[in-house]
Amino acid sequence: MTFHVLTLFPEMIEEVVNTSIIGRAVKAGHIAVETVNIRDFSDRGNGRVDDYPYGGGAGMVMQPGPIDRACRKAMETAAPGTRVIYTSPQGRVFDQAMARELAAEEDLIILCGHYEGVDERIIEKIVTDEVSIGDYVLTGGELPALVMIDAIARMAPGVLKNEESGVEESFSDGLLEYPQYTRPPEYEGRKVPDILLSGDHEKVKAWRRERSLERTLKKRPDLLKNR
Ligand code: SAM
Repeated sequence: MTFHVLTLFPEMIEEVVNTSIIGRAVKAGHIAVETVNIRDFSDRGNGRVDDYPYGGGAGMVMQPGPIDRACRKAMETAAPGTRVIYTSPQGRVFDQAMARELAAEEDLIILCGHYEGVDERIIEKIVTDEVSIGDYVLTGGELPALVMIDAIARMAPGVLKNEESGVEESFSDGLLEYPQYTRPPEYEGRKVPDILLSGDHEKVKAWRRERSLERTLKKRPDLLKNR
């Protein structure tokens, strides 16, 4: 799977995707992340790609032309019909189900906005999905793009090792994950539940299921509504 990120700050994307589990997956060729610097497609000779908003008001708006050309550049290597995601606080809120859906794509183009956002006409022309990472406003789309890449990439074959498996974890079956413990068996008087040390796999499984339901009810009862 290849992510093509259209951005004003490629170094921000590259730094993160070359680190930790995602960095290992990139090195192993399980996923690829290609950045396209929108400034390279400025038509003003100075790398500027923003301008004042028509009608007045605060801030600057990213011009449609450079984004359009940056997207065409990404399309040179992306599969025909590749989805173009605009990271936007006005989009559908990203969740595990969307991550799973997007993980089935061969390529994804992600457009990172800045300033007051992008000219509406480029959204109309090239964007297939507007995606938000939550109801708050960030300074740019790079962090949202990285959040999406991380969540989507860990579902791609080969990215997680067995011991990092994403099969049993929060949201995988609509519930929060059960509590986890590691050594030592006792820490400052707090003991690991006996059942986890019992070696009885069936009992451990049942205990985890109960804890999972219990903490979903306590912390995120909204998740149980649709079940
Ligand atoms: N003026 C815009 C509005 O009110 O909807 C906000 C622009 S924001 C300052 C700049 C850029 O950051 C956006 O174009 C978008 O790409 C990104 N961004 C900010 N908050 C985001 C969020 N919650 N989810 C996804 N992208 C976000």
